[in-house]
Amino acid sequence: MKISRYILPTLKEDPSDATVASHRLMVRAGLIRKESAGMYIYLPMGLKVLQKVTAIVREEMNRSGALEFLMPEMTSAELWKESGRWNTMGPEMFRIKDRNTMEYALAPTHEEAFTSAVRSLISSYRDLPLNVYQINTKFRDEIRPRFGVMRSKEFIMKDAYSFDMDEKGLDDSYQTMRKTYRTIFKRCNLETIPVEADTGAMGGSQSEEFMVASEIGEEVLLICEACGYKANQEKAEYQHGVPGNTEPEAPLAAVDTPDVRTIDDLTVFFKCGPERFMKSIVYTADGTQIMAVVPGNREINEHKLKNHLRAAELELSSDSAVEEVTGAPVGFAGPVTDRKIRMVFDTSVKGIINGITGANKKDTHYTGVNPGRDFTITEEADITIAEEGDLCPQCGKAMITRKGIEVGHIFKLGYKYSKSMSLTVLDRNGKAVHPIMGCYGIGVNRTMAAVVEQHHDDKGIVWPMTITPFQVCIVGIAKTDEEAAAVEEIYTMMKDAGIEVLLDDRKVSPGFKFADAELIGIPIRITVGKNYFNNNELEIKMRRTGESENVTKGNLLARIMEIIKQETDIIEK
Ligand SMILES: [Zn+2]
Repeated sequence: MKISRYILPTLKEDPSDATVASHRLMVRAGLIRKESAGMYIYLPMGLKVLQKVTAIVREEMNRSGALEFLMPEMTSAELWKESGRWNTMGPEMFRIKDRNTMEYALAPTHEEAFTSAVRSLISSYRDLPLNVYQINTKFRDEIRPRFGVMRSKEFIMKDAYSFDMDEKGLDDSYQTMRKTYRTIFKRCNLETIPVEADTGAMGGSQSEEFMVASEIGEEVLLICEACGYKANQEKAEYQHGVPGNTEPEAPLAAVDTPDVRTIDDLTVFFKCGPERFMKSIVYTADGTQIMAVVPGNREINEHKLKNHLRAAELELSSDSAVEEVTGAPVGFAGPVTDRKIRMVFDTSVKGIINGITGANKKDTHYTGVNPGRDFTITEEADITIAEEGDLCPQCGKAMITRKGIEVGHIFKLGYKYSKSMSLTVLDRNGKAVHPIMGCYGIGVNRTMAAVVEQHHDDKGIVWPMTITPFQVCIVGIAKTDEEAAAVEEIYTMMKDAGIEVLLDDRKVSPGFKFADAELIGIPIRITVGKNYFNNNELEIKMRRTGESENVTKGNLLARIMEIIKQETDIIEK
């Protein structure tokens, strides 16, 4: 491809709305253009990369035995109603109506659509195991789209769904996908951190996210460098220490605390650290009020609480509901009460001596509160968020935190969709049974952007050979028609050998061409200039290492082939 005949609108300046490297560089290198908030156009060079990532995903999915489908992106509301998610998906799901007022969702995910399709296609245990997938557009009504294609309203996902006869089969399918995902990301030269994840609303039993460490990551990972434990913060467990406080028990006393409600207010008022408080928060879990009690220096982990309660929905109770169940306005709830309310205590609460907590009475707190004496720990669970420095649940060493972006996610769905949507097959005995499902996603655009996040420098992108838009970029520095013809000859030689080559034949300064070549990040650059016209020497320069060498025209092709193979092997082997 010749740049003079190509669309490659490189920019010197960063786009004003880009805060992250991938967004900045993908726009500047002419890979994408913003169409409107959260929507992007892939220009020819960006599309080439996207297609290469897609090809790797497809190749590895096919190798795993999965079968490719192409599903409608508009999915009928009826399917979502069958699973019950029409009401629970929330405002992130785009919903539309046709002229006959039939309702549809622009699919954010395809569990329902695939379960329904498979329901009509299989009937016997002989049809299983089955893993079906597609590479298709997904939609999400992002409240605040940002980071370029990292968080957009429309994106391309590979989503796969496995169907097995039993848990053993599901585990085999899950492990196959685990392996496949590792291969896919490796081939894209993307270093991922697989972490245990909360299964949350998807309602499964085991789940792993493939995270890319990044400062802009919206998820926090807890990592134990000693034993390798990795989990996202929603899921991360930690060893709850028992404080070394051995002071004698004080009597329970009510203290007037007018308008002292928050933990910050309380630490000032009582002149003590937040760990002495028993923070008591009232939630509504599937319509019932419950009180969660945690130490004042800890945040409640609503995912853990929700899982512990096995609740489908959990939200903070309204002020009026809090007042109704505790007898006091918000800010004065506590576990010392005769009222009947289900309480869940974090595992650390039992270690608090002479604690302070709301007295369930306006403007009043109790001091000298001791678990066991003043209230009973009826129900105990780990319901707090693990933080930097917390002790690893596996080995007890202090953990660190890292921010991460999810590029892939695999999980065991269980029977949620096969049961709610009545998918059955006949087992060996002719009895109708529900297959057990797994579900596996990869964000394709996100993977591409994450590669840019990991592989760039201050000059631009540094594409890995496996997904680069072009393998070779020729910078021609010709002053005469004769020299231009000599450059073109090199270009044609490369092209005829099947090498993906981009020729910069624009009539601009060499400096401009070199800067653009570094910005767009093609792995191999060949300079055809004075040295060639006079001495038959071509310069090969590697974008990744900055190393250069000179070769003659006769040796050029063999050397380029060798480098392409080496650079591919570095990634794939
Ligand atoms: Zn550990």
